[in-house]
Amino acid sequence: PGTLHVVATPIGHRDDIGARAIETLRRVKVIAAEDTRHTRPLLQHLGIDTPLVALHDHNERTAVDGLVERMRGGDDIALVSDAGTPLISDPGFRFVRAARAAGLKVSPVPGPSAVVAALSVAGLPSDRFVFEGFLAAKSGARRARLSELAGETRTMIFYESSHRILESLQDMRDVFGPGREAVVARELTKMFETVLDGPLADLVDRVAADPNQQRGEFVVMVAGREASEDERLAEGLRVFAILKDELP
Ligand code: SAM
Repeated sequence: PGTLHVVATPIGHRDDIGARAIETLRRVKVIAAEDTRHTRPLLQHLGIDTPLVALHDHNERTAVDGLVERMRGGDDIALVSDAGTPLISDPGFRFVRAARAAGLKVSPVPGPSAVVAALSVAGLPSDRFVFEGFLAAKSGARRARLSELAGETRTMIFYESSHRILESLQDMRDVFGPGREAVVARELTKMFETVLDGPLADLVDRVAADPNQQRGEFVVMVAGREASEDERLAEGLRVFAILKDELP
């Protein structure tokens, strides 16, 4: 049977694609793409003429069966999304799940993802982090989710679009507090790449004052809540209680 190769593509700069990704896209029988109109120029740029089929949120349920059947018949297939890594706030979950359920091999060709690219330049604690994807479009639901995260001690990472960047930052400031450290990474690897850092109140002011800072694609990262001295002590005692039985 064939293999499903999950292939990352650039998040901006078109040269951010690895040799193995290019070779895989050239070699497979078909490429399942989130938007064929988006992927075709990339393939043209790479000189690849592998056939494309559309696989997006609206047809994934029905298209997956046919693709899994093709793999059973021996076809290798590549899965790509419009940008970055498939399945990361992008389609592909149902296909990967169905291929694995059918006992077929699913193999990654890793590459760019905005979440990791942003975290790698943020200068926020990165040993532990939570990826929250997109917040809700409506302020009520967005604030409700942010409130649930108010006690989170790990660095939090959000995807955001130009339509809502300012509102989202304002909601974050209101829920997490004006002094909470955050970083806004915009248009990474593209011409107008900017990375702003500072307390949420400052970031709101800077983004509000400059319409250019509201254009493009964004990753927002917010430092986790600092644990208090009491909490650190309680955590230390809790861990000690677990370990002490095992100590000699
Ligand atoms: N699959 C992609 C990945 O691996 O990052 C994410 C796809 S998601 C539909 C698109 C969102 O990712 C954008 O709204 C933005 O939040 C983020 N994003 C993608 N490219 C970016 C870039 N070059 N700079 C900043 N954020 C980006």
